[in-house]
Amino acid sequence: MSAEHIKLFYGLTCTEIGTNEQGEKVKLLQAKTLGGKEISIKCQKYILAGGALNNTRLLMASDSKHPGGIGNHSGLLGKFYMGHLSGDIATVKFTTPPKETIFGFDRDADNTYIRRRFSFTPEFQQEQKLSNTVGWLGAPEFGDFSHQNGILSSAYIALNLPLLKTRLGASTAIRRAAIGNDKGMYSAHIMNIIKDFGQILSFIPSFGYGRFVAKRKIPALFVYSAANEYPLHYHSEQVPNPDSTVSLANERDALGMRRLNIDLCFSDQDIESVVKAHHHWDQHLRQHDCGYLEYVSDDLETTVWTQAGDGFHQVGTTRMSEHPDQGVVDINSNIHGFDDLFVASSSTFVTSGQANSTFMIVAFALRLADYLKQEKEKNSASK
Ligand SMILES: Cc1cc2nc3c(=O)[nH]c(=O)nc-3n(C[C@H](O)[C@H](O)[C@H](O)COP(=O)(O)OP(=O)(O)OC[C@H]3O[C@@H](n4cnc5c(N)ncnc54)[C@H](O)[C@@H]3O)c2cc1C
Repeated sequence: MSAEHIKLFYGLTCTEIGTNEQGEKVKLLQAKTLGGKEISIKCQKYILAGGALNNTRLLMASDSKHPGGIGNHSGLLGKFYMGHLSGDIATVKFTTPPKETIFGFDRDADNTYIRRRFSFTPEFQQEQKLSNTVGWLGAPEFGDFSHQNGILSSAYIALNLPLLKTRLGASTAIRRAAIGNDKGMYSAHIMNIIKDFGQILSFIPSFGYGRFVAKRKIPALFVYSAANEYPLHYHSEQVPNPDSTVSLANERDALGMRRLNIDLCFSDQDIESVVKAHHHWDQHLRQHDCGYLEYVSDDLETTVWTQAGDGFHQVGTTRMSEHPDQGVVDINSNIHGFDDLFVASSSTFVTSGQANSTFMIVAFALRLADYLKQEKEKNSASK
């Protein structure tokens, strides 16, 4: 750690926020180690950056002077829990020359991997009352050997190797998403590998280098389709819904903290919007004579309902509002009613956008840092 003003404590979990008698200033943070040690921490300002769900859980657990937890003055702490909708309900069938399809990553001027997406202009989105939704060309699920692709079968086998099942290789969630519908049948995968052996030999060194050695790692695996057909992977905003909530469970963890009950609820509007977005993309492809979408079922809404689950992105449970009765934190990420307790997290977002919460988490964290710096300067000047 090179920043001389920062003291970093490892292995501590903050289990409670203690406040003064009036319940409007933080007195201390209680923290515990798994080894049974307990300490108190006192600062001038406190910023919760424990991830959306754990921030919310900590605020809820700090309920000795605040019914339902600190920040629950409006009854909205833990409400409007949002993730995203994602899945595949269609295959894009291009009628253009297959070699012209850009199915993989591009690189920008800084060499960062970037990805082309189907999306909508904000004006079109508003006019059509669509949630913010994008789609990108995917790869068939690795675990389904009927893709007959040796590279994907090699990836399936690699993701099942003990080394890659650990955190060294890929997270469990990423592994599961890539493998998808795991039909087992190693023999069928091995047949795919034998058929494409020459292609695999040239592919592995370049992909292996890009994925494990290069400074900028290839984020994911996409493969060329000679048939010019690609699964279209959608990713969509979830509309804010007060019935979608997290709350404290009775069960406790190893440190005695109550765990969270999660009740993530999607709505008809979320589902219908995903289906409508696909109809617009299909129309666009046909109008421009580039191809069309082939749907995976006749009942698309039911299919989207079965795919709605998320769990990757956590948004909305300490929502931001100008007025205290409409949210948990104010426009400076400060818990309403406190001047020393802040939240730096996607839990303050009032909408979920189509994806990639982290960029906005960082933007809001920088904004909070500026605000605290200005407040400090104002206070020093007035002394
Ligand atoms: C599989 C997967 C894929 C994802 N892909 C993307 C993506 O492509 N793009 C994107 O933008 N986002 C993605 N995300 C979301 C992204 O990971 C989160 O938005 C981001 O990590 C949130 O950062 P954070 O610092 O707020 O919280 P976290 O990363 O959750 O960090 C919080 C830290 O606080 C610690 N902590 C929690 N509670 C306490 C406590 N009480 N006391 C002390 N410490 C505590 C935790 O141990 C953790 O280290 C993905 C998430 C997953 C799971």
